[in-house]
Amino acid sequence: MSDHVLVINAGSSSLKYSLMDAGSGEAAADGLIERIGEAEGHQKHRGPDGETESSDPIASHEDALRAALKAFETHGPSLDDVDLAAVGHRVVHGGSRFAAPSLVDDALIAEVTELVPLAPLHNPANLEGIEVARRLFPDLPQVAVFDTAFHQTLPPHAYTYAVPSEWLEEHGIRRYGFHGTSHSFVSEQAARRLGRDLADVNLIVLHLGNGCSASAVRGGQSVETSMGMTPLEGLVMGTRSGDLDPAIHAHLARELGWSIDEIDRALNSKSGLKGLAGENDFRELSRLRASGNERAQLAFDVYCHRIKKYVGAYYAVLGTVDAIVFTAGVGQHSAEVRAASLQGLERLGIELDPDRNAEPGETGVVSADGSDVAVLVIPTNEEWEIARQALQVVRD
Ligand code: ADP
Repeated sequence: MSDHVLVINAGSSSLKYSLMDAGSGEAAADGLIERIGEAEGHQKHRGPDGETESSDPIASHEDALRAALKAFETHGPSLDDVDLAAVGHRVVHGGSRFAAPSLVDDALIAEVTELVPLAPLHNPANLEGIEVARRLFPDLPQVAVFDTAFHQTLPPHAYTYAVPSEWLEEHGIRRYGFHGTSHSFVSEQAARRLGRDLADVNLIVLHLGNGCSASAVRGGQSVETSMGMTPLEGLVMGTRSGDLDPAIHAHLARELGWSIDEIDRALNSKSGLKGLAGENDFRELSRLRASGNERAQLAFDVYCHRIKKYVGAYYAVLGTVDAIVFTAGVGQHSAEVRAASLQGLERLGIELDPDRNAEPGETGVVSADGSDVAVLVIPTNEEWEIARQALQVVRD
């Protein structure tokens, strides 16, 4: 059996796929199909011959996966030649039930379906991807890899909201955390770069992409994380508010007559950097800021201040910190965010080297030589982590 895993990430109107070598982390091909169900769909496939694009209507997730298989056939590599070991699916919410990746069977599908109320935007699409892949690859093992699983090690005092206890017992209302595959992947990489055993290091991991989350990782186990029952809590994100006073919901409903759905949509899709500066793409925001736009400057300041608050809080939770790790689009590429978020923390033993921060080299170390806490920039690779975990499940 080969180490190749087809990784599928199905969104509500999109399907991303990667043909990963779980051993080396090489992607032999990947692609993205967008605007499923709309008048015109869009497909990108990157294989051995480079990148190809096409625009055709794609009615359903099943048609999307068929289009992906066609792209493999036409542009390579041929899936017959690679001898797939498994299909690995990203599943956003695994609730309290899934602390590890799991083989897909009817019982798993029923349980993930039960969790739909906790992730109404994500789990239905993830399930759709699983159902379609089961139909098109009936002989291959399918593995579900959950965004929440890595954070199942949070202790009760970290995952429990201070609300009536029946809310947790009867309705599962607690913190779960997300981006788990990324936090897990970069934690392992960080330990490797520090030349230490993962079991011996304490890390603060900052995943700053479109969605943003922080985690405190002790000895390889997540002990705190900033996203909660849903991905809305915590850091400021591209379009999500992150933390806010929960009484704002009641105020908007009572005073402005907004419906719960309107409030939910505004906090998930119209807030964060977009809400503050009208722009959720960080590169655009940086351009606006450089041109003297005050709203962009405020958005940047709020974003970095929130990160700093979480760094301080997680430092206190961990007691000692060996490294702070920046990852994902903004974390990997914005020296300004790293500098502003960690500015003034020298008394905590956190000191950046400005030159290294401006251009992180191979090692990803951007802290000064005398800094007690290492600061690292490590590219995340969620597809590789999903492939590795899926392969482990089928090999066990
Ligand atoms: P996702 O959460 O969708 O996986 P990414 O990890 O790709 O997102 O991060 C996307 C974010 O990273 C966007 O806001 C994008 O503008 C930002 N980004 C990408 N490259 C850069 C860069 N060179 N400098 C600053 N921000 C960047």
